[in-house]
Amino acid sequence: QAKTPAHLPICFFTQEMNVRVRERLQLEQDLHLAVERGELELYFQPIVQSGQCQPVGAEVLLRWQHPQNGIISPATFIPLAEASGLIVTIGDWVLRQACSWLRHWLDLGLTPGPLAINISRLQLQDRLVTVIRDLASEYRIATHMLELEMTENILLDDHVQVSKTLDQLQAMGIKLSLDDFGTGYSSLSYLRRFSFDALKIDRSFIQGLPQDQDGCALIGAIVVMAHRLGLRVVAEGVETVEQRDFLRQQGCDFLQGYLLGRPMTASAYQATLPCFSAANE
Ligand code: C2E
Ligand code: MG
Ligand code: MG
Ligand code: MG
Repeated sequence: QAKTPAHLPICFFTQEMNVRVRERLQLEQDLHLAVERGELELYFQPIVQSGQCQPVGAEVLLRWQHPQNGIISPATFIPLAEASGLIVTIGDWVLRQACSWLRHWLDLGLTPGPLAINISRLQLQDRLVTVIRDLASEYRIATHMLELEMTENILLDDHVQVSKTLDQLQAMGIKLSLDDFGTGYSSLSYLRRFSFDALKIDRSFIQGLPQDQDGCALIGAIVVMAHRLGLRVVAEGVETVEQRDFLRQQGCDFLQGYLLGRPMTASAYQATLPCFSAANE
């Protein structure tokens, strides 16, 4: 077997790395302009109650329509925004847009459910409480119409500061969900330390259902534990009828996933909302 010249792979790797670093820097620069240029857009994915079809609310998911690269997933650009600190500006914008859509739908006589908004670690400071309070009053939105989702990594920071902010948010009537439950290092200790209102079981636990026996056992145990702690349970990434039925059987409270509805534009989501009179019938 011929020996590969030692310098070749190194050269190749360096070039590729260069390209990647440059792409990343370019994307980061573009992201700075994206808010001003109106390239970001809120999508809405319905959340339904187990055993029902009508959405009770939606999760807000950000999309970036990049002028050259097309739609970029938040899985790509949110980490960039977090690394550069831009997430605070973007997060404020998301909150304002969400309130503005709620106001728009209320004005049309529709009854939108609460919107669940993803919050990054950098956003969880005292100012978030003020930002939300001001937006709620500016758009005349009851605070129970806003829910916040956060992953375990937010709690890697200053615990005292974080729990103070979470307490203030809850005191305002804002519901808090622990997102991607089960994927972190110490999900259980977080549940003990902070008082969440709901937990969202990560999609990776749902994928193998109902064939995966260990997976099934875990779901059952998570639901029982959550309910004992007074938490509602939302399953993420529900894609099949079998998964839906199994989760319902296990007592999971809410479902979210492509089977129930994909993330959609505001106007598509609006079309699913009941109007006020119908909701009261
Ligand atoms: P997440 O909060 O866990 O959101 C759920 C993700 O699962 C979304 O990906 C959604 O499109 C996807 N999903 C929902 N149902 C299914 C399904 O049945 N099958 C599959 N395969 N996927 C499903 P998306 O929209 O790409 O968002 C990825 C992540 O980006 C989110 O995960 C959230 O952590 C973050 N993100 C999105 N929008 C925002 C935002 O406004 N602010 C912050 N800080 N993070 C955001
Ligand atoms: Mg989420
Ligand atoms: Mg999640
Ligand atoms: Mg996730």
